[in-house]
Amino acid sequence: MEEDFGEWYRRMLSENMLVDDRYDVKGMLVYRGAGMRIIKQMSRYLEDLLEEDGHEPTLFPLLIPETLLDMEKEHIAGFEDEVYWVTHAGGNPVERRLALRPTSETCMYPMFALWTRTFADLPIKVHQTTTVYRNDTKQTRPLIRTREILWNEGHTAFATREEALQNIETITRIYTELITGLCCVPVQVNRRPDWDKFPGAEYTIAFDAIMPDGKTLQVATIHNLGQHFSNVFKIQFDDEGGNKKLAWQTSYGPGFGRLLASVVSVHGDGKGMVLPPRLASVQAVIIPIVFKDADKGKVTDYVQKVVEKLKSSGISYKVDDGDDRPGAKYYKWELRGVPVRLEVGPRDVEKDAVMVVRRDTGEKQSVKLKDLDLQKTFKGMEENIRSKARENFDSRIFTADTLADLEENLGEGIVTVSWCEKNECAKPLEEKGTILSILDDEGECIVCGKKGKQVRMAKTY
Ligand SMILES: [Zn+2]
Repeated sequence: MEEDFGEWYRRMLSENMLVDDRYDVKGMLVYRGAGMRIIKQMSRYLEDLLEEDGHEPTLFPLLIPETLLDMEKEHIAGFEDEVYWVTHAGGNPVERRLALRPTSETCMYPMFALWTRTFADLPIKVHQTTTVYRNDTKQTRPLIRTREILWNEGHTAFATREEALQNIETITRIYTELITGLCCVPVQVNRRPDWDKFPGAEYTIAFDAIMPDGKTLQVATIHNLGQHFSNVFKIQFDDEGGNKKLAWQTSYGPGFGRLLASVVSVHGDGKGMVLPPRLASVQAVIIPIVFKDADKGKVTDYVQKVVEKLKSSGISYKVDDGDDRPGAKYYKWELRGVPVRLEVGPRDVEKDAVMVVRRDTGEKQSVKLKDLDLQKTFKGMEENIRSKARENFDSRIFTADTLADLEENLGEGIVTVSWCEKNECAKPLEEKGTILSILDDEGECIVCGKKGKQVRMAKTY
């Protein structure tokens, strides 16, 4: 993994049957059972949090007429080169070209306008888990850079700017619970520079994870749309005094493919994946160890007792009683990242115990069946997986005072340097990496030495 992360990553995706990228359209993935199960855990968790916060689940159409997509100039300019168009229906050209949604602002907001009459109709908060389509011209990479993107997108309209800002705080908390809570992936929250914000937004906040090769991976974004779209699509309402006002809007989304890529990469090791227990669809694998036929009956009966115990504590499990040697089974389930392995042999039966092996630490412990509390084990594992990832993340945060320092550290993670915000000094910086965000703190430009701002930089996916 350390020698060739790219190769390790490809192996994980294919050997664990997470996705298959051999489908005959470039950049369009087949999500297989193992991958889709993890994504479903993520999406359910997120949807529950959003709905607790008052978001309505929705499903808007895939096709957006060109007339709507074109309405917000800045927005369409940002996506123009990436839009797929439907131009024919059967043998006939369509009356107006239809875009496959690259994102759903221009699809949803004309409907928001129809739904908004007075302040009492607000806020509108909706979300949908769906796919969007972007003909990304950079080299595609499974789960990380694809042309069909599986995500959850949230969209809102509020009566006041304050409510929109409050919503951004709430979504920041919800996304942190999803990414760093459920998935145990540490991130840095960065406000993107103006030139890198979402087309049509006032500003964009991004969640950046760091991959084992030192590159950052943007796993989610939140956009403050201000009144740009409500102005274009006429999302307006009568306030309490009967005055016409424009709504304040936000939109946001995490990409599930990228989240899965970060879970696989950030927690994985030389043996394979390490899944945080709440994400794993198989949380425990039971491996009966029988070398003599005479032991078979009592081990099988005892395994049934273990199964009952797991069932009663709500743990998803699998019994691997296939013909492979135990060693081959260990290898397979370790590769898949199953949180714990329970070994049951004749001696365990005699002791009324099971051998519990943790995937994250490799720790082995004989536990009496009556004392087996995997939920507690999982809690400890999750904390361990999260803090290990955090420690690694923290060790990849640098500051640099010279261009040479910057270059050296950029391959390892995120580097803070100072920049005078002038174009001629941006050039040597951007030859080395990408500016993730501009901070308020001051410093001396590492190119020209003049006064400037601190910026965070990284090599990015
Ligand atoms: Zn400068």
